[in-house]
Amino acid sequence: MLLSKFPNSFLELKDDILDFVYPQHCAICKKHLNREEKDICEACWNSLVTLPDSFCPYCISFYEPGDTKCGFCQSVGKIIEDHKITLVRSLGRFDDYYKELIHRFKYGKKIPLGKRLAQRLGETINDDSNFSECHFLIPVPLHKSRYRERGFNQSEIIAEEISKIAHVAVLKNALKRKKNTKDQTNLSPQQREENVSGAFVVTQPEMVNGKRIILVDDVITTGATMNECAQMLKQAGAEKIIGMTIAVVTD
Ligand SMILES: [Zn+2]
Ligand SMILES: [Zn+2]
Repeated sequence: MLLSKFPNSFLELKDDILDFVYPQHCAICKKHLNREEKDICEACWNSLVTLPDSFCPYCISFYEPGDTKCGFCQSVGKIIEDHKITLVRSLGRFDDYYKELIHRFKYGKKIPLGKRLAQRLGETINDDSNFSECHFLIPVPLHKSRYRERGFNQSEIIAEEISKIAHVAVLKNALKRKKNTKDQTNLSPQQREENVSGAFVVTQPEMVNGKRIILVDDVITTGATMNECAQMLKQAGAEKIIGMTIAVVTD
């Protein structure tokens, strides 16, 4: 792919040119978009269902404000100390709408759409001390061959937008994906765990030692990827890991 060799700004410019030549339609309702609208119409944007609270990534139970541990996992005897990620905040459930929007962002290279979703996600943690007390945002890394193919890392773009709102710095090169893992879409939870096992390495342990970290990804499904990243960061001495994603798969 020739286009993937160009930086994001070029991809955005390409988008603008295409929009001018071929007028766009809403990703969700397919209505013709007016000049001020991009990718999705205002009505659909405003009707996206957003989640009110953070949740436990191991059982997807929602937390009450102020909770520091998952009450459900505790009640069923799960060992909370084994939980590498304390909580996760997502913008919405991975329904057909979010699926379509994230697909356009990742595979259709609609970077402005991804940024807009990330900004909306960033606004949800405005007054949440769990997030403001963190030192770094770390995007889940892509393998370098996947990065070359796509031209950008979607998690990095999401993290950069959250950073602007939450005033937490993005740490890009501390965590690396050394294994080019298979696409997880059709894998079972156990296969997902095996697929990502040993896939990540902390390349700058001195940067994460003793730090509170927000791991960022586009979607959390079984949590295998984020959990594997969290495990590596914890081994490198990270004090606390929480997560942020655009969407969460809840079924
Ligand atoms: Zn619409
Ligand atoms: Zn739980």
